Amino acid sequence: MNVFDRRYEMMPRAELEQLQLERLQALLVRLKRNVRRAREKIGDTRVESLADLARLPFTTPEDMVDSFPYGMFALPMREIIRLHTTVGPQGKPLVIGHTRNDLAQWGRLVARQLVAIGVTANDVVQMCFGGGVYGAAGYLFGAQVIEASVIAEDSAHVDYQIATLQNFQPTVLITTPGNALDLMQVMEQRRLDPQSLHIRTVLLSRPVDHETRERLAAGLFARVQCNFGLGEILNPGLCVECSAGHFHVHEDHFLAEVQDGELVLTTLCREALPLLRYRTRVRCELTREKCSCGRSGARIVPGERLDGRLRVNETPLYEGQIAGVLARTKAAGQPFTFTVSERRIVVSVEISDDLFADAVGLIEELTREIESEFLARLGIEADVRFISPRSRAGVDTELDADSKTED
Ligand SMILES: [Zn+2]
Repeated sequence: MNVFDRRYEMMPRAELEQLQLERLQALLVRLKRNVRRAREKIGDTRVESLADLARLPFTTPEDMVDSFPYGMFALPMREIIRLHTTVGPQGKPLVIGHTRNDLAQWGRLVARQLVAIGVTANDVVQMCFGGGVYGAAGYLFGAQVIEASVIAEDSAHVDYQIATLQNFQPTVLITTPGNALDLMQVMEQRRLDPQSLHIRTVLLSRPVDHETRERLAAGLFARVQCNFGLGEILNPGLCVECSAGHFHVHEDHFLAEVQDGELVLTTLCREALPLLRYRTRVRCELTREKCSCGRSGARIVPGERLDGRLRVNETPLYEGQIAGVLARTKAAGQPFTFTVSERRIVVSVEISDDLFADAVGLIEELTREIESEFLARLGIEADVRFISPRSRAGVDTELDADSKTED
Protein backbone atom coordinates (compact mmCIF):
# COMPACT_ATOMS: atom_id res chain seq x y z
CA MET A 1 0.00 0.00 0.00
CA ASN A 2 1.24 3.50 -0.90
CA VAL A 3 1.52 5.05 2.55
CA PHE A 4 4.70 6.90 3.53
CA ASP A 5 4.00 7.53 7.20
CA ARG A 6 1.67 4.73 8.25
CA ARG A 7 1.80 5.60 11.95
CA TYR A 8 0.44 9.12 11.48
CA GLU A 9 -1.52 8.86 8.24
CA MET A 10 -3.50 5.83 9.46
CA MET A 11 -3.59 6.66 13.17
CA PRO A 12 -6.83 5.52 14.83
CA ARG A 13 -9.18 8.47 15.26
CA ALA A 14 -9.14 8.54 19.09
CA GLU A 15 -5.36 8.47 19.19
CA LEU A 16 -5.16 11.17 16.50
CA GLU A 17 -7.50 13.42 18.46
CA GLN A 18 -5.44 12.99 21.64
CA LEU A 19 -2.32 13.94 19.65
CA GLN A 20 -4.11 16.97 18.21
CA LEU A 21 -5.20 18.10 21.67
CA GLU A 22 -1.67 17.87 23.06
CA ARG A 23 -0.24 19.71 20.06
CA LEU A 24 -2.96 22.37 20.27
CA GLN A 25 -2.19 22.98 23.95
CA ALA A 26 1.52 23.29 23.18
CA LEU A 27 0.70 25.65 20.30
CA LEU A 28 -1.29 27.93 22.61
CA VAL A 29 1.66 28.12 25.02
CA ARG A 30 3.99 29.08 22.16
CA LEU A 31 1.56 31.63 20.74
CA LYS A 32 0.89 33.28 24.10
CA ARG A 33 4.56 33.45 24.92
CA ASN A 34 5.85 34.69 21.56
CA VAL A 35 3.14 36.47 19.52
CA ARG A 36 1.63 39.56 21.10
CA ARG A 37 -1.37 39.72 18.78
CA ALA A 38 -2.27 36.10 19.58
CA ARG A 39 -1.71 36.59 23.33
CA GLU A 40 -4.17 39.50 23.39
CA LYS A 41 -6.81 37.57 21.45
CA ILE A 42 -6.47 34.26 23.32
CA GLY A 43 -6.51 35.84 26.78
CA ASP A 44 -7.29 33.33 29.52
CA THR A 45 -9.11 30.84 27.31
CA ARG A 46 -8.11 27.32 28.32
CA VAL A 47 -8.37 24.20 26.21
CA GLU A 48 -9.22 20.95 28.01
CA SER A 49 -10.66 19.10 25.01
CA LEU A 50 -10.89 19.56 21.24
CA ALA A 51 -14.42 20.86 21.73
CA ASP A 52 -12.86 23.95 23.37
CA LEU A 53 -11.36 24.84 20.00
CA ALA A 54 -14.63 26.63 19.21
CA ARG A 55 -13.88 29.12 22.02
CA LEU A 56 -10.55 30.16 20.54
CA PRO A 57 -10.22 33.27 18.32
CA PHE A 58 -9.85 33.11 14.55
CA THR A 59 -6.87 34.40 12.61
CA THR A 60 -7.71 36.11 9.31
CA PRO A 61 -5.74 37.01 6.19
CA GLU A 62 -6.31 40.65 7.27
CA ASP A 63 -4.45 39.93 10.53
CA MET A 64 -1.51 38.78 8.45
CA VAL A 65 -1.66 41.93 6.32
CA ASP A 66 -1.81 44.12 9.47
CA SER A 67 1.22 42.46 10.99
CA PHE A 68 3.24 42.42 7.76
CA PRO A 69 6.02 41.45 7.49
CA TYR A 70 7.10 39.63 10.65
CA GLY A 71 4.56 40.58 13.33
CA MET A 72 3.11 37.10 13.62
CA PHE A 73 6.35 35.15 13.58
CA ALA A 74 6.79 33.14 16.79
CA LEU A 75 10.58 33.02 16.62
CA PRO A 76 13.34 35.60 16.12
CA MET A 77 14.73 36.02 12.61
CA ARG A 78 17.95 34.17 13.47
CA GLU A 79 15.83 30.99 13.62
CA ILE A 80 14.13 31.67 10.26
CA ILE A 81 16.05 30.24 7.31
CA ARG A 82 13.56 30.60 4.46
CA LEU A 83 10.97 33.22 3.55
CA HIS A 84 8.37 33.21 0.85
CA THR A 85 5.52 35.49 -0.04
CA THR A 86 2.00 34.87 -1.22
CA VAL A 87 -0.88 37.14 -2.16
CA GLY A 88 -3.38 38.25 0.48
CA PRO A 89 -6.52 40.38 0.46
CA GLN A 90 -6.63 42.81 -2.49
CA GLY A 91 -3.23 41.71 -3.67
CA LYS A 92 -1.35 42.75 -0.53
CA PRO A 93 1.71 40.59 0.10
CA LEU A 94 1.86 38.09 2.97
CA VAL A 95 5.12 36.65 4.17
CA ILE A 96 5.63 33.13 5.47
CA GLY A 97 8.77 32.03 7.32
CA HIS A 98 10.25 28.59 7.88
CA THR A 99 12.73 27.27 10.43
CA ARG A 100 15.05 24.38 9.66
CA ASN A 101 12.55 22.02 11.31
CA ASP A 102 9.67 23.52 9.31
CA LEU A 103 11.49 22.79 6.04
CA ALA A 104 12.39 19.23 7.09
CA GLN A 105 8.77 18.64 8.06
CA TRP A 106 7.58 20.12 4.76
CA GLY A 107 9.63 17.54 2.89
CA ARG A 108 8.16 14.67 4.89
CA LEU A 109 4.59 15.92 4.35
CA VAL A 110 5.08 16.19 0.57
CA ALA A 111 6.71 12.76 0.60
CA ARG A 112 3.38 11.41 1.91
CA GLN A 113 1.69 12.93 -1.14
CA LEU A 114 4.25 11.59 -3.63
CA VAL A 115 4.21 8.08 -2.14
CA ALA A 116 0.38 8.13 -2.23
CA ILE A 117 0.48 8.61 -6.01
CA GLY A 118 3.03 5.86 -6.43
CA VAL A 119 6.33 7.76 -6.73
CA THR A 120 9.38 5.76 -5.61
CA ALA A 121 13.17 6.13 -5.57
CA ASN A 122 13.17 4.50 -9.04
CA ASP A 123 11.25 7.36 -10.62
CA VAL A 124 12.57 10.29 -12.61
CA VAL A 125 10.41 13.30 -11.74
CA GLN A 126 10.17 16.24 -14.12
CA MET A 127 8.98 19.48 -12.51
CA CYS A 128 7.84 22.42 -14.61
CA PHE A 129 7.01 25.63 -12.80
CA GLY A 130 7.46 29.25 -13.76
CA GLY A 131 7.94 32.37 -11.71
CA GLY A 132 10.35 31.78 -8.88
CA VAL A 133 11.55 28.83 -6.90
CA TYR A 134 8.65 28.53 -4.49
CA GLY A 135 6.22 26.66 -6.73
CA ALA A 136 8.60 23.78 -7.06
CA ALA A 137 10.34 23.97 -3.66
CA GLY A 138 7.92 21.79 -1.69
CA TYR A 139 7.86 19.10 -4.36
CA LEU A 140 11.64 19.16 -4.50
CA PHE A 141 11.90 18.64 -0.72
CA GLY A 142 9.43 15.76 -0.93
CA ALA A 143 11.18 14.08 -3.85
CA GLN A 144 14.50 14.36 -1.98
CA VAL A 145 13.01 12.58 1.04
CA ILE A 146 12.00 9.59 -1.07
CA GLU A 147 15.17 9.87 -3.17
CA ALA A 148 13.49 10.12 -6.56
CA SER A 149 15.58 11.73 -9.34
CA VAL A 150 14.42 15.25 -10.06
CA ILE A 151 14.85 17.27 -13.23
CA ALA A 152 13.48 20.81 -13.30
CA GLU A 153 12.30 22.72 -16.36
CA ASP A 154 10.93 26.23 -16.74
CA SER A 155 7.29 26.15 -17.78
CA ALA A 156 7.98 29.03 -20.20
CA HIS A 157 9.81 26.67 -22.58
CA VAL A 158 7.49 23.97 -23.85
CA ASP A 159 10.08 22.88 -26.44
CA TYR A 160 12.67 22.14 -23.74
CA GLN A 161 10.07 20.31 -21.69
CA ILE A 162 9.25 18.03 -24.59
CA ALA A 163 12.93 17.43 -25.32
CA THR A 164 13.45 16.52 -21.65
CA LEU A 165 10.46 14.18 -21.70
CA GLN A 166 12.00 12.44 -24.73
CA ASN A 167 15.63 12.41 -23.62
CA PHE A 168 15.43 11.72 -19.88
CA GLN A 169 12.28 9.60 -19.93
CA PRO A 170 10.69 10.95 -16.74
CA THR A 171 7.95 8.75 -15.30
CA VAL A 172 6.33 11.48 -13.21
CA LEU A 173 5.45 15.02 -14.30
CA ILE A 174 4.63 17.67 -11.69
CA THR A 175 3.31 20.95 -13.07
CA THR A 176 0.47 23.47 -13.23
CA PRO A 177 -2.76 22.60 -15.07
CA GLY A 178 -2.06 25.45 -17.52
CA ASN A 179 1.35 24.09 -18.41
CA ALA A 180 0.06 20.52 -18.71
CA LEU A 181 -2.58 21.74 -21.17
CA ASP A 182 0.06 23.65 -23.17
CA LEU A 183 2.26 20.56 -23.32
CA MET A 184 -0.62 18.43 -24.49
CA GLN A 185 -1.60 20.94 -27.16
CA VAL A 186 1.92 21.25 -28.58
CA MET A 187 2.29 17.47 -28.63
CA GLU A 188 -0.99 17.18 -30.53
CA GLN A 189 0.09 19.84 -33.04
CA ARG A 190 3.31 17.95 -33.70
CA ARG A 191 1.51 14.61 -33.85
CA LEU A 192 3.77 13.36 -31.08
CA ASP A 193 2.40 10.08 -29.71
CA PRO A 194 2.14 10.40 -25.89
CA GLN A 195 2.67 6.64 -25.67
CA SER A 196 6.20 7.18 -26.99
CA LEU A 197 6.95 9.03 -23.73
CA HIS A 198 7.29 7.35 -20.34
CA ILE A 199 5.04 9.50 -18.14
CA ARG A 200 3.03 7.29 -15.81
CA THR A 201 1.61 9.92 -13.46
CA VAL A 202 0.95 13.65 -13.73
CA LEU A 203 0.57 15.61 -10.50
CA LEU A 204 -1.20 18.95 -11.02
CA SER A 205 -0.49 21.82 -8.63
CA ARG A 206 -4.20 22.51 -8.04
CA PRO A 207 -7.51 20.70 -8.49
CA VAL A 208 -9.15 20.70 -11.92
CA ASP A 209 -12.62 19.65 -13.02
CA HIS A 210 -13.36 16.11 -14.12
CA GLU A 211 -13.38 16.97 -17.82
CA THR A 212 -9.94 18.62 -17.76
CA ARG A 213 -8.54 15.69 -15.83
CA GLU A 214 -9.86 13.23 -18.40
CA ARG A 215 -8.54 15.31 -21.31
CA LEU A 216 -5.08 15.47 -19.79
CA ALA A 217 -5.09 11.78 -18.92
CA ALA A 218 -5.86 10.93 -22.56
CA GLY A 219 -3.58 13.59 -24.07
CA LEU A 220 -0.54 12.71 -21.94
CA PHE A 221 -1.39 9.01 -21.62
CA ALA A 222 -0.96 9.07 -17.85
CA ARG A 223 -2.88 8.95 -14.59
CA VAL A 224 -3.67 12.51 -13.44
CA GLN A 225 -3.62 13.41 -9.73
CA CYS A 226 -4.19 16.78 -8.11
CA ASN A 227 -2.74 18.77 -5.24
CA PHE A 228 -4.63 21.14 -3.01
CA GLY A 229 -2.73 23.61 -0.85
CA LEU A 230 -2.69 27.17 0.44
CA GLY A 231 0.32 29.46 0.35
CA GLU A 232 -0.26 30.73 3.89
CA ILE A 233 -0.51 27.22 5.36
CA LEU A 234 1.50 24.93 3.12
CA ASN A 235 1.41 24.30 -0.61
CA PRO A 236 2.06 21.49 -1.40
CA GLY A 237 2.04 19.39 1.77
CA LEU A 238 -1.36 20.21 3.25
CA CYS A 239 -3.11 17.08 2.11
CA VAL A 240 -2.84 14.00 -0.08
CA GLU A 241 -5.11 12.74 -2.84
CA CYS A 242 -5.60 9.04 -2.11
CA SER A 243 -6.33 6.11 -4.42
CA ALA A 244 -10.05 6.55 -3.76
CA GLY A 245 -9.80 10.12 -5.12
CA HIS A 246 -10.24 11.96 -1.80
CA PHE A 247 -8.13 14.78 -0.37
CA HIS A 248 -7.07 13.82 3.18
CA VAL A 249 -5.75 16.68 5.32
CA HIS A 250 -2.62 15.76 7.31
CA GLU A 251 -4.54 16.18 10.53
CA ASP A 252 -1.60 15.41 12.78
CA HIS A 253 -0.21 18.75 11.49
CA PHE A 254 -3.28 20.73 10.47
CA LEU A 255 -6.46 20.77 12.50
CA ALA A 256 -9.30 21.24 10.01
CA GLU A 257 -12.74 22.76 10.65
CA VAL A 258 -15.45 24.20 8.45
CA GLN A 259 -17.10 27.42 9.72
CA ASP A 260 -19.97 28.94 7.71
CA GLY A 261 -18.89 26.83 4.73
CA GLU A 262 -15.28 28.11 4.95
CA LEU A 263 -12.21 25.94 5.51
CA VAL A 264 -10.48 26.89 8.79
CA LEU A 265 -7.05 25.45 9.58
CA THR A 266 -4.81 25.46 12.63
CA THR A 267 -1.13 24.66 12.13
CA LEU A 268 -0.28 22.33 15.02
CA CYS A 269 3.48 21.95 14.54
CA ARG A 270 4.78 24.89 12.55
CA GLU A 271 7.49 26.79 14.42
CA ALA A 272 8.11 30.03 12.51
CA LEU A 273 4.55 31.11 11.72
CA PRO A 274 1.94 29.17 13.69
CA LEU A 275 -1.63 30.07 12.72
CA LEU A 276 -4.59 29.52 15.02
CA ARG A 277 -7.97 28.89 13.35
CA TYR A 278 -6.88 30.54 10.11
CA ARG A 279 -9.82 31.50 7.88
CA THR A 280 -8.64 30.33 4.48
CA ARG A 281 -11.36 32.10 2.42
CA VAL A 282 -11.95 28.84 0.57
CA ARG A 283 -15.38 27.20 0.49
CA CYS A 284 -15.11 23.61 1.63
CA GLU A 285 -16.97 20.44 2.54
CA LEU A 286 -15.46 18.18 5.19
CA THR A 287 -16.19 14.68 6.42
CA ARG A 288 -14.44 12.30 8.79
CA GLU A 289 -16.09 9.19 7.37
CA LYS A 290 -13.78 6.23 6.99
CA CYS A 291 -12.04 5.95 3.63
CA SER A 292 -11.20 2.73 1.79
CA CYS A 293 -7.55 3.84 1.58
CA GLY A 294 -7.21 3.51 5.36
CA ARG A 295 -6.10 7.08 6.04
CA SER A 296 -7.74 8.70 9.04
CA GLY A 297 -7.21 12.39 8.15
CA ALA A 298 -10.36 14.42 7.40
CA ARG A 299 -11.55 14.29 3.79
CA ILE A 300 -12.18 17.68 2.19
CA VAL A 301 -13.75 18.88 -1.03
CA PRO A 302 -12.35 22.38 -1.64
CA GLY A 303 -14.59 24.77 -3.57
CA GLU A 304 -14.42 28.33 -4.85
CA ARG A 305 -12.72 31.32 -3.24
CA LEU A 306 -14.93 33.35 -0.93
CA ASP A 307 -12.92 36.58 -1.24
CA GLY A 308 -13.23 37.24 -4.98
CA ARG A 309 -9.73 36.01 -5.71
CA LEU A 310 -9.32 35.28 -9.43
CA ARG A 311 -6.60 33.48 -11.31
CA VAL A 312 -5.01 34.35 -14.64
CA ASN A 313 -2.26 32.13 -16.00
CA GLU A 314 -1.74 30.62 -12.50
CA THR A 315 -1.26 34.09 -10.98
CA PRO A 316 -3.68 34.99 -8.17
CA LEU A 317 -5.39 38.32 -8.67
CA TYR A 318 -7.98 40.51 -6.95
CA GLU A 319 -10.34 42.92 -8.68
CA GLY A 320 -8.89 45.87 -6.76
CA GLN A 321 -5.52 45.17 -8.35
CA ILE A 322 -6.98 45.67 -11.83
CA ALA A 323 -8.20 49.16 -10.89
CA GLY A 324 -4.79 49.73 -9.29
CA VAL A 325 -2.98 48.96 -12.54
CA LEU A 326 -5.32 51.17 -14.59
CA ALA A 327 -4.83 53.97 -12.07
CA ARG A 328 -1.16 54.11 -13.04
CA THR A 329 -2.05 54.81 -16.68
CA LYS A 330 -3.80 57.59 -18.60
CA ALA A 331 -6.98 55.50 -18.31
CA ALA A 332 -7.05 56.28 -14.56
CA GLY A 333 -10.55 56.73 -13.24
CA GLN A 334 -12.29 55.51 -16.41
CA PRO A 335 -15.07 52.94 -15.94
CA PHE A 336 -14.01 49.44 -16.99
CA THR A 337 -15.17 45.85 -17.12
CA PHE A 338 -13.09 42.71 -17.44
CA THR A 339 -13.28 39.00 -18.13
CA VAL A 340 -10.62 36.46 -17.21
CA SER A 341 -9.71 33.32 -19.10
CA GLU A 342 -7.17 30.62 -18.30
CA ARG A 343 -4.31 32.57 -19.85
CA ARG A 344 -5.20 36.27 -20.13
CA ILE A 345 -7.39 39.03 -18.93
CA VAL A 346 -9.55 41.09 -21.28
CA VAL A 347 -10.09 44.63 -19.99
CA SER A 348 -12.67 46.88 -21.61
CA VAL A 349 -12.09 50.54 -20.75
CA GLU A 350 -14.69 53.17 -21.44
CA ILE A 351 -13.43 56.33 -23.13
CA SER A 352 -15.17 59.49 -24.24
CA ASP A 353 -16.73 59.87 -27.69
CA ASP A 354 -14.15 62.55 -28.62
CA LEU A 355 -11.25 60.20 -28.05
CA PHE A 356 -13.13 57.39 -29.67
CA ALA A 357 -13.65 59.38 -32.85
CA ASP A 358 -10.30 60.82 -33.72
CA ALA A 359 -7.34 59.82 -31.61
CA VAL A 360 -6.00 56.67 -33.20
CA GLY A 361 -2.44 57.32 -32.07
CA LEU A 362 -3.57 57.91 -28.53
CA ILE A 363 -5.57 54.69 -28.43
CA GLU A 364 -2.56 52.71 -29.61
CA GLU A 365 -0.32 54.38 -27.07
CA LEU A 366 -2.80 53.78 -24.27
CA THR A 367 -3.19 50.13 -25.26
CA ARG A 368 0.57 49.61 -25.10
CA GLU A 369 0.79 51.48 -21.81
CA ILE A 370 -1.94 49.42 -20.14
CA GLU A 371 -0.64 46.11 -21.47
CA SER A 372 2.89 46.78 -20.27
CA GLU A 373 1.63 47.88 -16.82
CA PHE A 374 -0.31 44.60 -16.44
CA LEU A 375 2.79 42.64 -17.36
CA ALA A 376 5.09 44.67 -15.12
CA ARG A 377 2.81 44.95 -12.05
CA LEU A 378 0.96 41.64 -12.10
CA GLY A 379 2.96 39.46 -14.47
CA ILE A 380 -0.06 38.72 -16.65
CA GLU A 381 -0.94 39.43 -20.25
CA ALA A 382 -3.88 41.70 -20.91
CA ASP A 383 -5.98 42.34 -23.99
CA VAL A 384 -7.20 45.91 -23.88
CA ARG A 385 -10.34 47.07 -25.62
CA PHE A 386 -11.93 50.49 -25.63
CA ILE A 387 -15.63 51.07 -25.60
CA SER A 388 -17.63 54.22 -26.10
CA PRO A 389 -20.10 55.23 -23.39
CA ARG A 390 -22.74 54.90 -26.14
CA SER A 391 -22.12 51.16 -26.36
CA ARG A 392 -23.55 50.87 -22.87
CA ALA A 393 -26.69 52.45 -24.24
CA GLY A 394 -26.98 49.67 -26.80
CA VAL A 395 -25.05 51.26 -29.67
CA ASP A 396 -22.63 48.73 -31.09
CA THR A 397 -19.27 50.44 -30.99
CA GLU A 398 -16.11 48.77 -29.93
CA LEU A 399 -12.59 49.19 -31.11
CA ASP A 400 -9.12 48.27 -30.15
CA ALA A 401 -5.76 49.29 -31.50
CA ASP A 402 -5.55 46.30 -33.85
CA SER A 403 -8.84 46.82 -35.63
CA LYS A 404 -8.22 50.54 -35.91
CA THR A 405 -4.83 50.01 -37.53
CA GLU A 406 -6.41 47.90 -40.25
CA ASP A 407 -8.76 50.72 -41.27
ZN1 LIG B 1 -8.65 7.88 1.14
